[in-house]
Amino acid sequence: TMDAAPAMEVSTGLPGVAHIVAVIAGKGGVGKSTTAVNLAVALMQMGAKVGLFDADAFGPNTPRMLGVRGVPLRTQGGKIVPIEAQGIKLVSIGSAIPEDQPVVWRGSLQHGFVRDFTQKTEWGELDYLVVDMPPGTGDIPLSVMQLLPLSGALVVGTPQEVALEDVRRGVTMLNKMNVNLLGFVENMSYLVCPNCGEEIDVFGKGGMDAFAETFGAPVLARIPMDVNIRKGSDAGLPAAFQEGPVAEAYKELAAAVVQ
Ligand code: ADP
Repeated sequence: TMDAAPAMEVSTGLPGVAHIVAVIAGKGGVGKSTTAVNLAVALMQMGAKVGLFDADAFGPNTPRMLGVRGVPLRTQGGKIVPIEAQGIKLVSIGSAIPEDQPVVWRGSLQHGFVRDFTQKTEWGELDYLVVDMPPGTGDIPLSVMQLLPLSGALVVGTPQEVALEDVRRGVTMLNKMNVNLLGFVENMSYLVCPNCGEEIDVFGKGGMDAFAETFGAPVLARIPMDVNIRKGSDAGLPAAFQEGPVAEAYKELAAAVVQ
């Protein structure tokens, strides 16, 4: 069971929401959205009420990952009603715009989108609101950090050095915005050979540890590169729902976030 504070007692600026945790990444494609979705599922499995705000306006994939692709967002009395997606309350820009329509985002529009979605969503009572940020250090992450009182942020990256350079910029942004760095998630950490069980370090080894040391924050979880993670996301049934080492890794991450 989880020792979460009663939702109403903690003031966050979102009435009823106890903790807001942002998931950021230096660049796209490292598994940020995958991590956000599976973290949300793992938190829910610990007994928490969980919402997911998909602020990744450039690649809003969470509706697909949670099996509600094409389900439109509703409003009620001027408020946005989150989509119930396998127990998680989801609000995604991907549910608000037609899929075949390219979105042209000027800076002011980006801020307006974040403001609208943060002010108008009826989350109800949540223990955790996970925010899937767009990759990088653009206007939307800045708006989210200004408009939402974040409890902290997780930084997702692969062990690959190139990615880590981008990660550095992400951490610098957190520091500038006075957002608490909860720790790092090393995604695609290793691949277990299905034939011999050997662990293959596809993107190298140790980079994230050195990095964590530099910034004085822990590596909270190492998520393997696993075909079930990709398949789960594509099928709309996140891997954290399945039993096995992958789900265990996400549980470990959720436990570290709840700490
Ligand atoms: P980002 O949000 O950082 O752009 P995504 O979460 O969309 O990245 O992931 C990019 C791609 O990599 C997706 O196809 C996803 O299914 C896959 N992926 C992410 N993490 C893993 C993993 N640990 N193992 C296997 N595939 C993964």
